[in-house]
Formats: sequence, C-alpha cells, structure tokens
Amino acid sequence: MSAPFTQQLLKWNKKENKRSMPWKGEKDPYKIWLSEIILQQTRVEQGLDYYNRFIKAFPTVKKLAAAPEQQVFKLWEGLGYYSRCKNLIATAKIITEQYKGRFPNTYNEILQLKGVGPYTAAAIGSFAFNLPYAVLDGNVFRVLARYFGISTPTDSTDGKKLFSCLAQELLAKKQPADYNQALMDFGATICKPQQPLCTICYQKNECRAFANNWVAQLPVKEKKIIVKKRCFYYFVFISNKGIAIKKRMAADIWQNLYEFALVETTEPKGLDKKNALLLAQKHFDNVSNATVERISVPLSQKLSHQTITAYFIIIRISSSKALLTNGFEWVPAKKLINYPFPKTITGWLAQSGLF
Ligand code: SF4
Repeated sequence: MSAPFTQQLLKWNKKENKRSMPWKGEKDPYKIWLSEIILQQTRVEQGLDYYNRFIKAFPTVKKLAAAPEQQVFKLWEGLGYYSRCKNLIATAKIITEQYKGRFPNTYNEILQLKGVGPYTAAAIGSFAFNLPYAVLDGNVFRVLARYFGISTPTDSTDGKKLFSCLAQELLAKKQPADYNQALMDFGATICKPQQPLCTICYQKNECRAFANNWVAQLPVKEKKIIVKKRCFYYFVFISNKGIAIKKRMAADIWQNLYEFALVETTEPKGLDKKNALLLAQKHFDNVSNATVERISVPLSQKLSHQTITAYFIIIRISSSKALLTNGFEWVPAKKLINYPFPKTITGWLAQSGLF
C-alpha cells in the first residue's frame, strides 16, 4: 500500500493534471534525454522552442552525433549553461559509437553518460524504461519539505540523504513514470516556489507546512550564493576583411562560443575613446593604426553565480594582419549570424547597426 502522499498525487494526476508538454508520455529515450538536458536550469516555456528545433534538426541521436559542433552550439545559443551542450554532443557520440545508436537501458549505464546526474538518470530511466527511480530536484525538495514540514537544509549532507531516502520511499514502484511526471507537474503548477496554490491544493489537509503556516519558510537552504562581478570590454575590431572573432576555449562560462577581442577586469568602469585605444594597444598585436568609433553603454547579464557587465568598443583598423597572432579570424559582418555567441553579444549585435 503506497503512502497517502503518493495515492493523492496519482489521483490528482489522473483527474486534474492538465499540464501538457510535447515530451510528456514520450517513450523514446533520445527525446526524453534531450528534453531533460534542455530543461536543466531552464524554464519549460523557454525550453520548448529549443526542444522542437533540436528534434527537427536532429531527429535521431546518430544525426546529432554526426552534426558539426558549431551547428549544435548555434542551435543552443541563448539557452545558457553551455557545458550542457558540450556534454550533449559528447553523449550523442558515446551512444552512437559505444552503444551502436541504442540508448542504454539500465540506471547505472544512463548515469555514466556525460551531463547526466541522478535526477536526469531517474527521469530517463523511469519514463523510457519504467525503472523504479524517484526524481529529486529543486521542485521535489520543495514539495517534500513543505508537505512533511522538514526544515533540514536541502543542500546539507544530512538533507540530501534524508530527502533522497524519502523520495525513493514515496515512489509508486509500479508506475514510476506516472509518479515522477505527476510530482514534477505538481511542483511546477500547484506547490510553486512563489505563491503556491494552497487553498485549492488537494494535499492541504495532510500538509504540515500549510497547517503550521510554514509554507513561505520551506524549503531551507544552507549556503548563500555568492555572485561574482566581472567586467568585459569587448573590442569589436573592424577591418576590410570583416570583424575579428575568436572561440572561447578556456574552462569558463560560454566555452566553445565565439566572442570579440576581450579585456576583462573586475570593476565596471566607463572608458573614453583615448583610454579604450590605449587598452586595445596594450592587449592586442599590431593595432597601432586604429580609430575608436564608438563605445556602448554598459550591458548587463545575470548568470546564476556571476554578473557580467559588458562594454562594446567599435574600433576600425586599417590592417587585417592585426590580431592574427592573437588567434582571431576575420568574418564578414553578414556571416556572424552563423556563429554561436553568448546572449550579451547577440543582444548587442541586434541593435549595433553593423549589418
Ligand atoms: S498545501 Fe501548499 S505547501 Fe502544502 S503541498 Fe499543497 S501547495 Fe504545497
């Protein structure tokens, strides 16, 4: 006999859960995997379009594995957390080569895939292969913390153990797919992070947080996120051969995306044209004969642990030999559209008037 929480959840799912998503009820592990990777750190509304575009461009895992990396990154552009895209490509190759195009069907094998953690492995395992593994993510932590009135921090060692045992215990072992999907939908539509719909919630009579007025305080987290500030001066060098761009290779944000010539500092500080030129000459080769045309207003992008403030400095240069020793390539302005860039750059490009 399953727990009242589980019974109520499945009942609600059958009768009232109206949430529809293209991958719901999907049994193809490739499509499930794709949707789960896209939805890590991403809202469903934002991920939907990306999912549809990926399925259209790469209907099978083999097609994804064979695609040029730049094309995959271009499709991912704007979704953020680009290591997901890198892992997506690596995993598509592993499945194609090691598993001959067939998705692995045991929990442990799925968990070995790059970019797949316990949550994603449980989701793929239960949805595609009916494996009895409970999903546990921020949504589930929140629902369980509130329903059972648990104040142990969800990011502490004790909390992780406690919640993962509880989640597994509550799982409807014979219907893991229905249960996991219902729990995700319940967390997203009823027991939401802000303004949960307690008054119409079918679990409210059993919910300890509701009974004790603890809803706003739960779940508890131990660690505060420290947000690092970074300032990017992007020098948009223009020559008769186009605009200088380069791939970001370092293990940092936006790895594998393209960018303009970058000088980074910690403190955002406006530059005048004279200082901008001096800064460019200090950092890049053969740019003595250059003119700074304009400098943008600061543009900010907030990431989960960083705030980026970017300035774009358009700088015209007579020699396209400049910067070649710094590893840049010159690309005609109209062709920039083919390259994947971080959101800060695509946002600026759209209003730059360079096209
Ligand atoms: S009563 Fe409120 S806090 Fe409790 S499970 Fe329902 S929505 Fe969540």
